[in-house]
Amino acid sequence: MVMLYSFSHSISIYNHCMDKLVAVIGGGPAGLMAAEVISARGVRVDLYDSMPSLGRKFLMAGKGGLNITHSEPFEQFVSRYGKRRAQIEPLLKTFGPHEVRQWVHGLGIETFVGTSGRVFPEGMKASPLLRAWLKRLANSRVTFHLRHRWRGWLPDGSLHFATPEGETATSPEAAVLALGGGSWSRLGSDGAWVPWLEQAGVRVEALKPSNCGFDVDWSPHFRERFEGQPVKSIVLSFGSFRQQGEFIVTKEGLEGSLVYAASALLRDELSSQGKAILSLDMTPDRSREWLVEKLSKPRGARTMASHLEKTVGIKGVKAGLLREFVAKEDFTNSERLASAIKALLIPLIAPRPLDEAISSAGGVMFEELDEDLMIRSMPGVFCAGEMLDWEAPTGGYLITACIASGYMAGNGVLKWLEASTNR
Ligand SMILES: Cc1cc2nc3c(=O)[nH]c(=O)nc-3n(C[C@H](O)[C@H](O)[C@H](O)COP(=O)(O)OP(=O)(O)OC[C@H]3O[C@@H](n4cnc5c(N)ncnc54)[C@H](O)[C@@H]3O)c2cc1C
Repeated sequence: MVMLYSFSHSISIYNHCMDKLVAVIGGGPAGLMAAEVISARGVRVDLYDSMPSLGRKFLMAGKGGLNITHSEPFEQFVSRYGKRRAQIEPLLKTFGPHEVRQWVHGLGIETFVGTSGRVFPEGMKASPLLRAWLKRLANSRVTFHLRHRWRGWLPDGSLHFATPEGETATSPEAAVLALGGGSWSRLGSDGAWVPWLEQAGVRVEALKPSNCGFDVDWSPHFRERFEGQPVKSIVLSFGSFRQQGEFIVTKEGLEGSLVYAASALLRDELSSQGKAILSLDMTPDRSREWLVEKLSKPRGARTMASHLEKTVGIKGVKAGLLREFVAKEDFTNSERLASAIKALLIPLIAPRPLDEAISSAGGVMFEELDEDLMIRSMPGVFCAGEMLDWEAPTGGYLITACIASGYMAGNGVLKWLEASTNR
């Protein structure tokens, strides 16, 4: 029998906290999980969001198939958090990929593992899951306050909101900030909270695009001809990064899963060196020697485009990329052309703007937080989700860490309330 994740095993411990009120600001996966944990102990939660409905980015994530977590071994899973592994690992040990799946099952939705090991809810959509989740929260002690935009703290320490009816303030026993990062601001998370936290003395690493595309200086001809086309089955290399996959040529440059996977390295290189050059192997299944031999065959009256296609199968957008970055004279030199096909160098100009990125890097520094994700200098204020200073590739790692941090912050709030009754 499948064990469903239960939040109710220690309700009695917190009975004396039931008269308390907690504010959760931000109704994405991190805030909703914090609200679930807190309300499951019978504590009242007021959940605020600036948008007219909750979980908009979560719903958007479900558009192309909601990749909720990943099935790879835990050791590999935690390695995806790179520089912030040490801070994210304890969260995942408490509520990790396994618990995320059990929790989805607890909402009455099965999960399945896709061919790449990624985990999806049955039907792949986010909306049934979000609907079931919000229903469960509404049936517990969570009150939703939509169109309530948090604007920081008033001088008396209360939380300040702008609403369609005017300004309002509240002073709950504890608060969880789960305001998201700074991408796709039209879905609600716009990073406006950064200066408010900084003014309160909390150090925040500047928000940066993560899992983002990059600008390339395409010629007008290439852009016109190949915009929107996928470049498939290629290997992208950059420093220690080497991965097979595909990307899409955009009007401005490159987008897509393979580019996103290398984006943190490319972004940091652009920031520190002012330039980044990625390398593409356009025929990963063919050796350079094989290419040289084929390309050396007499071309006869064939055009170079037709020669490339007939001998080594390179055509369309791949041939266009070669034209874009290989010197004209190298096309008649089989050795040099083969080298370019195996390692085509594409200079990048800049990452695409934060608002277009799948996620944000940067955020509230972990050094500002205790192990329960409470801001050390602001007792009773907790942070969770993408607004924390970590990043991860796509593959379910983002939502998993958001949910895990919401779980940790929610439990932190309960501990804090428990301790405050003894203070
Ligand atoms: C196109 C797209 C596809 C994605 N696909 C996946 C995927 O398949 N798998 C995956 O793991 N991740 C995916 N992600 C990333 C994932 O959706 C986010 O990492 C996750 O939603 C972040 O959760 P969060 O709760 O921290 O913040 P958010 O989901 O951004 O929620 C923050 C909430 O805070 C509210 N808010 C912000 N500021 C204020 C304020 N001042 N006052 C009141 N409310 C405020 C916002 O309205 C919002 O509802 C995708 C993202 C995008 C854009």
